[in-house]
Amino acid sequence: ATRDPLTETLVLAGGLALPAERHAMQAKAVSAWFGTHKVLERVSLDVPAGKVTALIGPSGCGKSTFLRILNRMHELVPSAALAGEVLLDGEDIYDPGKRVTHARRNIGMVFQKPNPFPAMSIQDNVVAGLALTGVRVSSRARADLVEECLTRAGLWNEVKDRLRAPGGGLSGGQQQRLCIARSLAVRPRVLLMDEPCSALDPTSTRRVEETIAALKGDMTVVIVTHNMQQAARVSDRCAFFLAEAGTPGGIVEHGPTAAMFGDPQDQRTADYVNGRF
Ligand code: ADP
Ligand code: MG
Repeated sequence: ATRDPLTETLVLAGGLALPAERHAMQAKAVSAWFGTHKVLERVSLDVPAGKVTALIGPSGCGKSTFLRILNRMHELVPSAALAGEVLLDGEDIYDPGKRVTHARRNIGMVFQKPNPFPAMSIQDNVVAGLALTGVRVSSRARADLVEECLTRAGLWNEVKDRLRAPGGGLSGGQQQRLCIARSLAVRPRVLLMDEPCSALDPTSTRRVEETIAALKGDMTVVIVTHNMQQAARVSDRCAFFLAEAGTPGGIVEHGPTAAMFGDPQDQRTADYVNGRF
C-alpha cells in the first residue's frame, strides 16, 4: 500500500483506498542530552490519533525525557539539548516561529505524583491552567467547563456537591483525576501521562484506567507505565525503550500492543514483557 499525502488515504493494490491512520504526533530522529550525557539516540515514533500509546521499559532508559520532549518541557532544564523534530498534526512544535503556548494548549501532561494546588478549590483547580496558556473563558462558561472536564475525568459525581472544597482534601486517586480534569481544561488534542498510577492504590488505578478508556477516541493518549498488565489493558500500541549499558536510550521495538505482548520480535522485548529483567 502507498500513502497518498493529499487525501490521507492508503491506496491498496487494485486502487482501493482506505482512510490512513492519522498521526497526532510524530517524533523524528530525536536525540537528547543533559550536558554531555546523551540519554536518547535518534528516537522516531508515530503516535496515532485517538489511540493510546504506551511507553514501556526499565528505569533510566529515557521514557520521561522523551515524554517531556513531546511537550517542550525538556528545554526547561538549563543543561538540556535536543536534536530531531517533534510534529503535532504535522507541524514542528519547536519551530522558532511557534511559541511554547502552542504546545501547552494542545498537549496536556499528567505526572506520577498527583499535584493539584492543595489549598485551591476543586473548581478553581480545574481551570487553573487556562490563564497560564492565555485561554480566556467567561465566568458563565467557566462553570460549564468545570463540569465538562470533571465529567470527562470521571470525577464529577464524586465532587459535584463540594466544588468549593480544597483539592488537597481529595483522596490520592481523586486528586489524580482532578489533575486529568485540569489538563483537559484547555481542550488539548494530546494527553501525556507519566506513570499516572504509580502512586495510586489498585482501586484508584482502575478508575484512572477507566478514565483513559473513556477519553480514547477524541483524545490521543501517550502513557508511560511500568505496569505491564496496565499497558496490556489500556494501550493500542506499545513502544519498548531500552538503554543498554553505557548507551543512550532508544526504541527496541514498537507495534500493536497485542503483537508486542503476544509475538515480540526482539528477544529483549520478550524478556521485558514477560518480567525477565
Ligand atoms: P525513565 O523515565 O525511563 O526512568 P528518564 O528520562 O527519567 O528515564 O532518565 C533518562 C536518563 O536521563 C537517566 O540517565 C537520568 O539520570 C537522566 N536525567 C533525567 N533527567 C535529568 C536531568 N534533569 N538532569 C540530568 N540528567 C537527567
Ligand atoms: Mg520516568
